[in-house]
Amino acid sequence: MKDRFGRKIEYLRLSVTDRCNLRCLYCMPDEGVESIGHNRVMSYEEMGRITAAAVRLGINKIRVTGGEPLVRRGLVDFIRTMCQLPGSPEIALTTNGLLLAEYAEQLKAAGLERVNVSLDTLQEERFDRLTRRSGLAQVLAGLEAARDAGLHPIKINMVPIRGFNDDEIVDFARLTLDRKCDIRFIEFMPVRSDLGFSAQQRIPESEIIEKLSTVGPLQLIENSGRNLDGPARMYRFPQGKGQIGIITAVSRHFCGECNRLRLTADGRLRPCLMADNEIDLLSVLRDESVNDQQIEKILLSAVDAKPEGHHLESGEAPMQKRTMKDIGG
Ligand code: SAM
Repeated sequence: MKDRFGRKIEYLRLSVTDRCNLRCLYCMPDEGVESIGHNRVMSYEEMGRITAAAVRLGINKIRVTGGEPLVRRGLVDFIRTMCQLPGSPEIALTTNGLLLAEYAEQLKAAGLERVNVSLDTLQEERFDRLTRRSGLAQVLAGLEAARDAGLHPIKINMVPIRGFNDDEIVDFARLTLDRKCDIRFIEFMPVRSDLGFSAQQRIPESEIIEKLSTVGPLQLIENSGRNLDGPARMYRFPQGKGQIGIITAVSRHFCGECNRLRLTADGRLRPCLMADNEIDLLSVLRDESVNDQQIEKILLSAVDAKPEGHHLESGEAPMQKRTMKDIGG
């Protein structure tokens, strides 16, 4: 699938639930957010039908996200079905890791190759404050379980935010010295104006690199600018076992290379993370007379609706209707 700007669309981010077992300060408002009613959430059958259509059209990677995907019952079986889709798309999972110790082995047995774990602090008290819940030890156990189950390389996604956890950039980077895990620093995106975070709290790439250089000489891994997973620029310490990625979604945005479509748990296709216009595929899907060609046509219309890029850099806070946990990042 190609969009109006010649971009090849081959990556689908699929949110299987809007529910989450954490309440991260920068992701959702203090009072929490209303959940979608059960009857508005896509069933696994509905998701299966849409993803199969997407794969027929050329999607070759599907990332299962949420909310927190592992809180949805039956996820392991769904992952197994996804892994058996004709066309063999790559299936990936993004999780906060709280339930990973419980599910890592089953996920591996279901066919999942690896996981991304979101973790923003290695300090327990800070974890509790940042997530408005507790469970750092559980997440760390989840990481161990994922490694033991052979889900590797494990990628840890950390969002450094000034005055919050930016003093831990080095601690996270050090994890790559003796562990086969990748750390990816993801620029904070000031997508909502009501969460009490400002654009100034985003840590630019240059500052991250400066901090990393205090650990040792940092080597840029050539040709690492682009992969299916996203455009992380990858680095490593010469003596390190893992790699370090920096994803500059705001300061050096990669809209020109965007290869994604997003599907929310309530069945809305979101052509761009940063734009609130969505296409209600679920309502169409629930019309019994709809056939697979019509589903494909709607997927193509979402590709066609992809805007050229976002304007976060200019201070725009584009998410009026949704939070990140509704969309899945
Ligand atoms: N619960 C799963 C997890 O934690 O990975 C999936 C959903 S979560 C919304 C996906 C990712 O979005 C997380 O890595 C989170 O850190 C990130 N995220 C949420 N709000 C963000 C923001 N304003 N800027 C950058 N990343 C954000």
